[in-house]
Amino acid sequence: MNKAVYPGSFDPTTNGHMDIIFRASRIVDKLIVGVLQNPSKTPLFSIDERVNHLKMLTQNINNIEIISFSGLLIDFVQSVNAKVVIRGLRAVTDFEYEFQMALTNRILVPEVETLFISTSTQFLFLSSSVVKEIAMFGGNVEAMVPAQIKEALKDKLDI
Ligand code: ADP
Repeated sequence: MNKAVYPGSFDPTTNGHMDIIFRASRIVDKLIVGVLQNPSKTPLFSIDERVNHLKMLTQNINNIEIISFSGLLIDFVQSVNAKVVIRGLRAVTDFEYEFQMALTNRILVPEVETLFISTSTQFLFLSSSVVKEIAMFGGNVEAMVPAQIKEALKDKLDI
């Protein structure tokens, strides 16, 4: 079985993430979305909230599973028996960091391959940080996130 992990913070999930999820789920047998619990970052949404958002948003995709993880990505990938890591690529600015991470992971575990999926053009400049910044100042994030995330942002930020 061709199993892949799509890891990220998903704080919160954007239309850019959903685009990668939809496309990745069509090319692998099983897609595991790994939601990172990073102790050195203070996320806007808790790990349970981020996992629940993704579960709700992907309920119509039948070959997907949403799991939280902490620690090394490559350890998580091995623990779920996956052989592929999926990452989304936006502008060139993503490239150096992503390339470095892919090569580092290959040194750690050579049999795990990183697969990059390029973003759709309308999501080129979309990131969770941009969404949070706009939402905090009361801007309209409708074109950037699924409707449920827009509501979750409203509740969380009390706007
Ligand atoms: P991380 O902190 O690991 O970068 P993110 O949640 O920001 O976590 O991103 C997870 C993955 O989704 C990364 O591979 C990132 O490049 C990708 N991604 C984020 N936003 C977009 C987008 N607009 N289009 C395509 N890929 C994206």
